[in-house]
Amino acid sequence: MIYQRSSQLFAEAEKVIPGGVNSPVRAFKAVGGTPIFVKSAKGAYLYDEDGNRLIDYINSWGPMVLGHAFEPVVDAVVAKAKLGTSFGMPTELETQIAALAVSMVPNIDKIRFVNSGTEACMSAIRLARGYTKRDKIIKFAGCYHGHSDSFLIQAGSGAITFGSPNSPGVTEGTAKDTLLARYNDLENVATLIEANKNEIAAIIVEPVAGNMGCIPPQKGFLEGLRQLCTENGIQLIFDEVMTGFRLAKGGVQELYGIQADIVCFGKVIGGGLPVGAFAARSEIMNHLAPLGPVYQAGTLSGNPLAMAAGLAMLQALNNDPAIFQRLEEKTAYLAAGIDRVLKANNVVFTINRVGSMISVHFDANPVVDFQSAAKGDNDTFKKFFHGLLQEGIYIAPSAYETWFITDALTYEDLDVTIQAIEKVSKTF
Ligand SMILES: *Cc1c(COP(=O)(O)O)cnc(C)c1O
Repeated sequence: MIYQRSSQLFAEAEKVIPGGVNSPVRAFKAVGGTPIFVKSAKGAYLYDEDGNRLIDYINSWGPMVLGHAFEPVVDAVVAKAKLGTSFGMPTELETQIAALAVSMVPNIDKIRFVNSGTEACMSAIRLARGYTKRDKIIKFAGCYHGHSDSFLIQAGSGAITFGSPNSPGVTEGTAKDTLLARYNDLENVATLIEANKNEIAAIIVEPVAGNMGCIPPQKGFLEGLRQLCTENGIQLIFDEVMTGFRLAKGGVQELYGIQADIVCFGKVIGGGLPVGAFAARSEIMNHLAPLGPVYQAGTLSGNPLAMAAGLAMLQALNNDPAIFQRLEEKTAYLAAGIDRVLKANNVVFTINRVGSMISVHFDANPVVDFQSAAKGDNDTFKKFFHGLLQEGIYIAPSAYETWFITDALTYEDLDVTIQAIEKVSKTF
């Protein structure tokens, strides 16, 4: 396939947009080459500016769980747009989507809508800090919670050392309140809590990690976090921006039967429009302004177009719970196919999967945390990525990303993909 016009458009974009993109993951830095410019998308397919059709395994990094240009969402947005696009005043629509979300997700009474997953996580830790009157938080290496300062922290030299900024612009003062732990390592977390007694406001975790490839929580990990939090007066924050309304109607809380104190949403909840949300029991949520002292606001929060898209998406998921079973079956089929053809071609690999989140790692060892995820062979990944692109299959341009399966994919699409992977893996 030829991606000539995309290359030209990228050169134009680079002149006026830093790196040519409005979010760094879109650039092909990790794999080389230039990004593909999309003209339109429908169902499981992207149509690019060169006239190519690609089978899409990113789906806007998660939101399009029912496929692109899903008609109920598009119709709802178009109808709402004609009635005005923003008021900065309450609308009935906001109550409708809030009530539906609260009914679908376990253990939450109230939800507040924001404009991105970043805002949701940023607001959730402010709420946890205001509620507990403590400053520190624990996050896990390799987990992503958006680009707000507190979360842009990389591993320090020792387990109990202060975090150090990994992005210029994050101050030391902010970084020292973020403690880093290893994913799937409860002992590490217990040690951090012990060394910072009564100082930790919250533990924030991707309950199924998706930003270092897909990494499932090992048996007992989430249960152990729940117990440590309860024992130590710490708020457990599930960042379900990726997993919420994707792995189950009620997200990971429902999937594994574990209750978080505060839950963050994004991606699917907006149906492809810019939406995030955070939610908890009333006792916690009532600390937010205007009821309580913890300030949080947004000119465009609860925007009618975004709420209309989100409501149509949640209604579709709520009305047909079999969607989650179908997603599970399709993704299991894809995983089995990839496993078969890679083994046949003697490729060294590990596949991780939970529901419709899947990742292929080019390493033989189990991938259970950031360290093991970083061991994958990136040269093989580059060949894999560009080989698939030539076959009209679009996966994320980085080995650290999860693939998102959409209900719009047919078994024929999956077979085409498996055959393409067989062909490409012969060239490794
Ligand atoms: C995508 C993501 C975010 C950030 O959401 P944005 O809408 O990009 O700000 C936060 N947490 C997780 C787990 C995510 O996958």
